[in-house]
Amino acid sequence: MRRCPLCHNTQTSLFHRNKKRDMYTCHHCQLVFSDAASHLPPSVEKQRYQESGEGKQPALTQFLTSLISQCEQNSEQPLSGLNFGRVLDPSSLLGIGNNQHKISQYDPFFAPDHQVLKHHYDYICCFKVFEHFRFPFKEWSLLGSMLKPGGWLAIKTKLLTDPSTFDKWHHKNNLTHVSFYQHATFEYLAEQAGFKLLFAPNDLILVQKPSGSDITRDLSSFAES
Ligand SMILES: [Zn+2]
Repeated sequence: MRRCPLCHNTQTSLFHRNKKRDMYTCHHCQLVFSDAASHLPPSVEKQRYQESGEGKQPALTQFLTSLISQCEQNSEQPLSGLNFGRVLDPSSLLGIGNNQHKISQYDPFFAPDHQVLKHHYDYICCFKVFEHFRFPFKEWSLLGSMLKPGGWLAIKTKLLTDPSTFDKWHHKNNLTHVSFYQHATFEYLAEQAGFKLLFAPNDLILVQKPSGSDITRDLSSFAES
């Protein structure tokens, strides 16, 4: 019996087995997660991120730029944002937005500044990060707690849309990918937290914390871009 690392339910079962590891599925939140015994040692994991990180900089820059420009349209105040889990290099970061906005960054390996996790943000960017979460409940709770009322969490992660073809799914072959989400998983999370949820094309998931006031922000045009 394995406990789901996201909803903590024990109704889980073996979902997939290959030479490298076993994967389990949770019948409650539909998360698919890898056997903890197969998790890479942190030093190896860090090495993998170092090797793959640079190639993702242009896509991350573009993602963050679009997100900020959409948030800007709904706010007259300078924005405070957090880029969580995958750090953008300083030169790319400088080219984003304009100087009145503040962008903080956090990464457990390359920018482990825990102070930034004590603030609240208008938006949080998680670009190809959720699949790396070994303890997704902890991360989800943290991210939700750091959003300002009305703030947005923009998640880019490949959704598992057809579990029957999982054995051919390339995305699962990367051993640093340990958590896989279905639409139902995010629906469960959003409902539990009382957050608004929007699925957009290209594996973009937008989550909004309720504003609790008349101030509303709309990111639907980001979802369509
Ligand atoms: Zn679960």
